[in-house]
Amino acid sequence: MFLMIKKFFEDFFLCLYNKLFSSRYVLKGKCKRCGACCRNILFSIKDGYVKDEKLFYEMQKKYKYYRNYKISGILKDKKDFQNGALTFECKYISDKNLCKIYWFRPKFCRDYPNINPELIYNGVTMLDGCGFYFDVNKKFKSYLK
Ligand code: SF4
Ligand code: SF4
Repeated sequence: MFLMIKKFFEDFFLCLYNKLFSSRYVLKGKCKRCGACCRNILFSIKDGYVKDEKLFYEMQKKYKYYRNYKISGILKDKKDFQNGALTFECKYISDKNLCKIYWFRPKFCRDYPNINPELIYNGVTMLDGCGFYFDVNKKFKSYLK
């Protein structure tokens, strides 16, 4: 119950913050429960993304948290700055694409999909088939009025 209330207030203040300080983008659409975001996770490190299997296994040895994930693939698009990044699948995603620890999921899952203008500028979009999409907050027409 406490987590539900906490989540409600977090969402409320995030929404209020975005309205007041007007992010250039708004999130639209809704989740289709395809599970893709739990199977295509990227881990960022100091100078980019985790691209090396050995590095990931080292991270797993050092930090228990990373043991919740296994390598699911690799991004291949030479034009994309994420090219070569490993993707990871979370062990808590069920066969029916539901989170097995929904009420206790980590913050980055609770926040997803969040608006990160820097990534959007760099061409990052939602995963293929995702029900969410980013839209510009202020339509061009509104500047002409
Ligand atoms: S990829 Fe998008 S539609 Fe699919 S589960 Fe994640 S948020 Fe929902
Ligand atoms: S903890 Fe749940 S929501 Fe987060 S990645 Fe794993 S399955 Fe998805």
